[in-house]
Amino acid sequence: MNEHSIREVVIVGGGTAGWMAAAALSRYLNNGYTNVTLIESEQIGTIGVGEATIPPLINFNDLLGINENDFVRATQATFKLGIEFVNWGRLGQRYFHAFGDLGTDLQGVPFHQLYLRERARRPMPDITAWSMSAAAAYTGKYARPGAKAQFPLDQLRYAFHLDATLYARFLRTFAEAHGVRRIEGKIVDVELRSEDGFVQSVKLGSGQTIGGELFIDCSGFRGLLIEQALHTGYEEWAKWLPCDRAIAAPCSYTGNPDPFTRATALQSGWQWRIPIQSRMGNGHVYCSSFISDDEAERVLVSNLEGELLDSPRRLTFTTGRRKLSWNRNVIAMGLSSGFVEPLESTSIHLVQAGIARLIAMFPDRRFNPLERDEYNRQMKQQNEWVRDFVILHYKAMQRDDSEFWMQCGAMDIPDGLADKIEQFRNKGRVFAEGVELFPRQSWVEVLLGQNIVPEGYDPVVDGLDEAKVSQALEHFRQGYVDTAERLPTHAQFIASCCAAQSAVPAQEFAL
Ligand SMILES: Cc1cc2nc3c(=O)[nH]c(=O)nc-3n(C[C@H](O)[C@H](O)[C@H](O)COP(=O)(O)OP(=O)(O)OC[C@H]3O[C@@H](n4cnc5c(N)ncnc54)[C@H](O)[C@@H]3O)c2cc1C
Repeated sequence: MNEHSIREVVIVGGGTAGWMAAAALSRYLNNGYTNVTLIESEQIGTIGVGEATIPPLINFNDLLGINENDFVRATQATFKLGIEFVNWGRLGQRYFHAFGDLGTDLQGVPFHQLYLRERARRPMPDITAWSMSAAAAYTGKYARPGAKAQFPLDQLRYAFHLDATLYARFLRTFAEAHGVRRIEGKIVDVELRSEDGFVQSVKLGSGQTIGGELFIDCSGFRGLLIEQALHTGYEEWAKWLPCDRAIAAPCSYTGNPDPFTRATALQSGWQWRIPIQSRMGNGHVYCSSFISDDEAERVLVSNLEGELLDSPRRLTFTTGRRKLSWNRNVIAMGLSSGFVEPLESTSIHLVQAGIARLIAMFPDRRFNPLERDEYNRQMKQQNEWVRDFVILHYKAMQRDDSEFWMQCGAMDIPDGLADKIEQFRNKGRVFAEGVELFPRQSWVEVLLGQNIVPEGYDPVVDGLDEAKVSQALEHFRQGYVDTAERLPTHAQFIASCCAAQSAVPAQEFAL
């Protein structure tokens, strides 16, 4: 510790973002002099949605030293191998955005280029026939690949579907056990330092004042500190991502949980279907200029597969990002820092990305602008990567059965995304700017899935013998099928080691 070290961190908000930040900081600021306090208001509550995740959450659990089976059990989670998109591209079509690798590159040539040449010669199945995650997903199978897993099982990548409320509770237990102090109460005022406008303290309805040096704003869409107190400003993305409402409605389901999310395009938006152990999460994300709230709710409820378990909940949002994620001594995380609709399940990941960067750039009480500016630069990039990938799904839409989709198909898009699409349309190439969140395989699966078909393939493929490549492709494809066949069902795997209420004795599948 030195005289400038931060000693008081105050987290405002106890939703998924607040408790993720609290859990991570309790672990990383375990230095004997930094206190972490979290303030939340039961009266205000949390947003209560946010059920689908992407694979990096595994690293978050690892960093905290959380046992994955304990986490799955506590959050009633299931495993997610990707997203099935139904009626995207054209009505009646479906494709899979699978996690993990696609096939294997040969002599440095990307696998999808080999596939594109082969596809130009003969009818081929979808490219995800070369994905271990997709092969398992479509047969309802799952097993966690162990450290010794061999090809192709070692290519299986997964994330989770979970109960957001239980996740916050689970993290709260973890954080409090590691020294985080929780204060229940509603913040009614924020006091700024007169000399520089930094946040000095927050005042609760009870009259209690809580001072701090670093504040993390996890107060949800309202952005209590970052916006209401500091007026940071918001960059709206509605011209590219026009959906602005959602209705969430859980229902019962029977049978085995699918190890994937389903996103079905409807007339003026789309519907999610997310199975967790205890129920099916459903929601309709839509554009209020094209459908009324009542009609959107009617459509959702009429599509449910089981009995409605709770009253449908209506949510309003503005897609975009806070102009600065870090302003003065306030760092916004979660919904207070921005929101991209949940089509690719990225919000919880952006919280994780913010936490990782805060730990890497942790300030002292002098608040060197270097750390703040680098943090803001990186978070802007993270948000824009997510934004562009999600816009792709809307832009690459050829449906002409609804005004909404025709408008999306005709819209202008950000330049970087337009270039990416044109590069792919030309010779199937995908270029990344650094280590992007969605890897090449994800872009290829969604571009092909939504009928962006390259006019040619990379000429480098012609250096490889056609007959040998053809044989190798067939060999790999069969390998995925055979391996999926040997796996336990998703339900069997959960029952074996991580069922929320299980009568089945715990026993790990060794694979
Ligand atoms: C329709 C929809 C679907 C989504 N689906 C997904 C998904 O599938 N995957 C995914 O990763 N993300 C998803 N998200 C996003 C996800 O829900 C959020 O990123 C995540 O829950 C984090 O929310 P939060 O903690 O920032 O905010 P909230 O859950 O709103 O929590 C805010 C906290 O601040 C507290 N608070 C606010 N004001 C005060 C005050 N004055 N005094 C004291 N406390 C206060 C509240 O009590 C609460 O504890 C979805 C979001 C929406 C809208």
